[in-house]
Amino acid sequence: MADSSWQHLRRETLAVRAAVPRSQYGENSEALYLTSGYVQPDAATSARRFGGEEDGYTYGRSGNPTVTSFEQRLAALEGAEACMATASGMSAIMLMCFSLLKAGDHVIISQSMFGSTLKLIGSEFGRFGVETSIVPQTDLAAWQAAIRPSTRLLFAETPTNPLGEVCDIAALAALAHNVGALLAVDNCFATPALQRPIELGADIVMHSGTKYLDGQGRVMAGALCAREQLVVEKFLPVQKNSGMVLSPFNAWVVLKGLETLDLRMQAQSALTLELAQWLEAHPAVARVYYPGLASHPQHELAMRQMNGLGGAVLSFDVKASSSEQARARAFHVLDQLQVLSLCTNLGDTKTLCTHPASTSHGKLTEAQRQAAGIGQGLVRVAVGLEHPQDVQDDLARGLNTLDTL
Ligand SMILES: *Cc1c(COP(=O)(O)O)cnc(C)c1O
Repeated sequence: MADSSWQHLRRETLAVRAAVPRSQYGENSEALYLTSGYVQPDAATSARRFGGEEDGYTYGRSGNPTVTSFEQRLAALEGAEACMATASGMSAIMLMCFSLLKAGDHVIISQSMFGSTLKLIGSEFGRFGVETSIVPQTDLAAWQAAIRPSTRLLFAETPTNPLGEVCDIAALAALAHNVGALLAVDNCFATPALQRPIELGADIVMHSGTKYLDGQGRVMAGALCAREQLVVEKFLPVQKNSGMVLSPFNAWVVLKGLETLDLRMQAQSALTLELAQWLEAHPAVARVYYPGLASHPQHELAMRQMNGLGGAVLSFDVKASSSEQARARAFHVLDQLQVLSLCTNLGDTKTLCTHPASTSHGKLTEAQRQAAGIGQGLVRVAVGLEHPQDVQDDLARGLNTLDTL
């Protein structure tokens, strides 16, 4: 599967070069192979390929060269031995848990993780006897205290959505390895441009390629990066039999997205810091949540772990005297937008704004939201690539007219 001819090259080069070899036509941009089946040269080769004794494509559920190119490129960027692409971020988590866990096994996850992750692992896998402890994101002692003899997996997401809480990947890796468990990290918000969990000791990096890897809001995709042995022995057999495969078209889109990942993450992080500083000084804003700000509780850890940048998502609380007023004010800010998109997604070149309490976190009870620190006045901004003045002007339209409510 792996082509080692380019493996000595540097990350920036691999971001645009790592891929399967060119076809006989010499295309410069990687080919998009839309095919579900593959013609075999002869029956004996076919038998060897189906028997797993020889590399070679047989059927779309078992592999596709465009998908392989995406896997090789993402593995190179993450500093991983191997990668397995999946249909979406959630299917990557599904594949990971399905491959590694059985009834009676125990998983530790943070309470600030992506909502569907909490539901999939905490509830759905619970039906099959997998036990889950849910701990506070930044409380290392709580992660440690949750460990049991049956703990197989610690799964962390850092920074988190929407408050940008950061946990210490190296410390969690040490905790996991002490008891023979694996550490998986959801690297969706930071991406390998800012944070490479495997270099910090993590065993598995999980991605929603739907976000920054594509980076332009076009397709769904997901991936798991890990040691070759984990990918080949654990993930591959389950992938082949379950069909959680990435479409070659989506793989091609995300493959091309990876070529500009570093540039986008650097530019979008710089724009986000500028917006965060402007919001922090705005009289209508109570608090800004962004790991790139010195006021963020895990700022130093974030800077150490994330290549000195904070990523491209921030949240802020509007000032208000009650929960009802906070909701009305946050809605006012969002309803005054003329340029930015009211859209519950992130990782786009267009700036996207959302009200977490009524969307991504709308199904939680008010008490659960309070515990998670997600108030009715919270607005999340996933910063894109517009001119910073236009972004500020669009948010100022609402923020400067809250008294008219
Ligand atoms: C979006 C997201 C996911 C899920 O990915 P999909 O591609 O939507 O399935 C998982 N984790 C985080 C942090 C996300 O933002």
